[in-house]
Amino acid sequence: MIRERAYPVDPWHIRETRLDLELMAQSESVFALSNGHIGIRGNLDEGEPHGLPGTYLNSFYELRPLPYAEAGYGFPESGQTMVNVTNAKLMRLLVDDEPFDVRYGELRSHERTLDLRAGTLERVVEWVSPSGQEIRVRTVRMVSFTQRSVVAFLYEVEPINSTARLILQSELVANEQLPPTSKDPRVAAVLDHPLQAEEMLEQRTGGLLVHRTKASDLRMAAAMEHLVNAPGKHAVTTEGHPDWLRTTVACKLEPGQKLRVVKLAAYGWSSNRSLPAVRDQVGAALASARLDGWEGLIEAQREFLDEFWDHSDVRVEGDPEVQQAVRFGLFHTLQAGARAEKRPIGSKGLSGPGYDGHTFWDAETFVLPALTYTQPSAAADVLRWRHSTLDLAKERAQTLGLQGAAFPWRTIRGQECSAYWPAGTAGFHIGADIADAVRRYVSATNDLDFEREVGLELLVETARLWRSLGHHDRHGRFHIDGVTGPDEYTAVVDDNVYTNLMAQQNLLAAADAAQRHPDLARKLGVNDEESASWRDAAAAVHIPYDRELGVHQQSEGFTRLAEWDFENTPPEAYPLLLNYPYFDLYRKQVVKQADLVMAMYVRGDAFTPEEKARNFAYYEARTVRDSSLSACIQAVLAAEVGHLELAHDYLGEAALMDLHDLHQNARDGVHVASLAGSWIALVAGLGGMRDYNGQLSFSPRLPNRINSLEFSLLWRGLRVRVEVSPEEVTYSLRNGGGSARLELLHHGKEVTVTQVKPVVLAIPPAAPTGPAPTQPAGRAPVRRANNK
Ligand code: BGC
Repeated sequence: MIRERAYPVDPWHIRETRLDLELMAQSESVFALSNGHIGIRGNLDEGEPHGLPGTYLNSFYELRPLPYAEAGYGFPESGQTMVNVTNAKLMRLLVDDEPFDVRYGELRSHERTLDLRAGTLERVVEWVSPSGQEIRVRTVRMVSFTQRSVVAFLYEVEPINSTARLILQSELVANEQLPPTSKDPRVAAVLDHPLQAEEMLEQRTGGLLVHRTKASDLRMAAAMEHLVNAPGKHAVTTEGHPDWLRTTVACKLEPGQKLRVVKLAAYGWSSNRSLPAVRDQVGAALASARLDGWEGLIEAQREFLDEFWDHSDVRVEGDPEVQQAVRFGLFHTLQAGARAEKRPIGSKGLSGPGYDGHTFWDAETFVLPALTYTQPSAAADVLRWRHSTLDLAKERAQTLGLQGAAFPWRTIRGQECSAYWPAGTAGFHIGADIADAVRRYVSATNDLDFEREVGLELLVETARLWRSLGHHDRHGRFHIDGVTGPDEYTAVVDDNVYTNLMAQQNLLAAADAAQRHPDLARKLGVNDEESASWRDAAAAVHIPYDRELGVHQQSEGFTRLAEWDFENTPPEAYPLLLNYPYFDLYRKQVVKQADLVMAMYVRGDAFTPEEKARNFAYYEARTVRDSSLSACIQAVLAAEVGHLELAHDYLGEAALMDLHDLHQNARDGVHVASLAGSWIALVAGLGGMRDYNGQLSFSPRLPNRINSLEFSLLWRGLRVRVEVSPEEVTYSLRNGGGSARLELLHHGKEVTVTQVKPVVLAIPPAAPTGPAPTQPAGRAPVRRANNK
């Protein structure tokens, strides 16, 4: 955990002012740069010391066997692991004849700054070599949002006190050695030498390496080129080897003189294209980067981000730490998705190897809400990627004896990769989560082309799964038995409320979409009987309720299970999954993450306000938040049931997940769902934004310490701005012209907003709330009200 404040509070920058070797891996994740296509961890330029080196390409993976002590029918045979590919970040420096290595000599000053508006990571260092030579190094790096195959680095070095001989070795290195991993299931498997060399080309100022994976048969190329600027005499040479390529710049500088090297690098990969084609692809990407040059790339990066912040920024006054963290969260969300382009978004984005680089429901349920309303094309692309894996999901359903499509719980390429079926295959809700993301995207954009091209089929095939997985009992009630909901501490249960309500929505959405597109639906084999059977099942979905306690049961029988002994669970025993057997977790009332509470957010239309308040208090006392996906959703419900201070606390937890390394595993990559979730906590939590059945509504209300909140979202082509103060809310439209009208609900009241006239409305007095809910012993969130 990052105990002291590692990064000073600043609205637009994440700054590290001293290098803590113990925290290197965490800061490499925090400082990771990505555009969703390529990701590079924040490793030091000279490569060592490091926590965990990492360079990743979206969907570039290797297969590995999944060993089972006792295999069963339908168990996935192989897993997929994201590969640490050829490293283009390496720029080693020799000062006279000593390697610049911060572990030796004296590190006079060190500062790294992630600039959220510039989209760059800058490092400024003053170092004295063991023999007394003082140098100043400034480096800047970026992964281009506008040229998705390009990464670029600036390296400047100058001697401070006396003439120095400087040798800069800039490299591409494949098959780097990686530190061994622990037994924590959240950590990735390490692959030894995953890349086989295919071609190497060296030129005077750069070159390229082509490699391929052994089992997954993917080919990748990395190329680099250098633009060198040095006063006086200098020499540039390049030498190569199948697994590395090195361009060396040698010069001698006086104090005040500077060596400036721009390194442009490009990546390309493919499962189909030939070696010459992939080689040419990176050559072209490099030519395009050269055309813009360093300054051009930097300028384009800023323009891209100016546009993004203009319509996506969230302003929070009164809690500067949360302000910074929420922007950091939005930045990483953008990095994970901006240029993923029909490829998945992993639970760590491309910031680290955690969870093997797999995508989960995290993408559709946590990341896509933020992207749908800020960067809708990126959200559509993720769903187009899901659609491209539909055949695999249908095959999987067949293997499982089901109809329709069974999407994988975790994957890179589309095949199920979970070797633990109770928390993998049984997590069928992923199908309804994808359907919900389709519904949300279409509702927010009115993009009917998308619905025709991919949306309808996704809805139909997921609905078919529910119809075949569930059954009507002799009273006609529709049950879905033997599944695992979001709470992975309660597995293989009957009638999980979240799953059932999401399946219900999925079935209805499929029937409605089939009605909107009858010809296309017919082509997919949907007839009246089938869509009527979806509506019947949806109307009869069983929702377990405990009358005696007056609360919903997370799943059938949940409220009669034994209670977990929280009083005697020591703080170091969390996360429980690393310290207690699953059999014990499964048979007790202990909740890993928001589940019924999640249902009350996404299907809030299925609960009364009284039910929400009672359920929230009940599950709050049993939820341990061992998943980083929990706090943001608890924030939303805490706000809805009137516990605004608690909502603020959970917002802080979600947003600070990585900056404070709250789950002590930020080293493996940032928690993209929690970071995107901090947007959800603000907009859906404090802003009370919902979209039920295409009706946009807001119910903003602020906790004491936050004196204003402002956010923007895109709704059906309109740029909507919401400004909230403790007493009133202003809704305005920033585009659309005189004819644009937005109908919305403000605390349940109908309002029309036009571009001509912003609407200012009072926030109605809050209904009285019950006592503040309590959490399991020792699991209360950090209180933000007193946390100045
Ligand atoms: C959570 C899942 C989540 C996965 C990846 C698990 O710990 O329980 O809900 O999808 O992590 O983030």
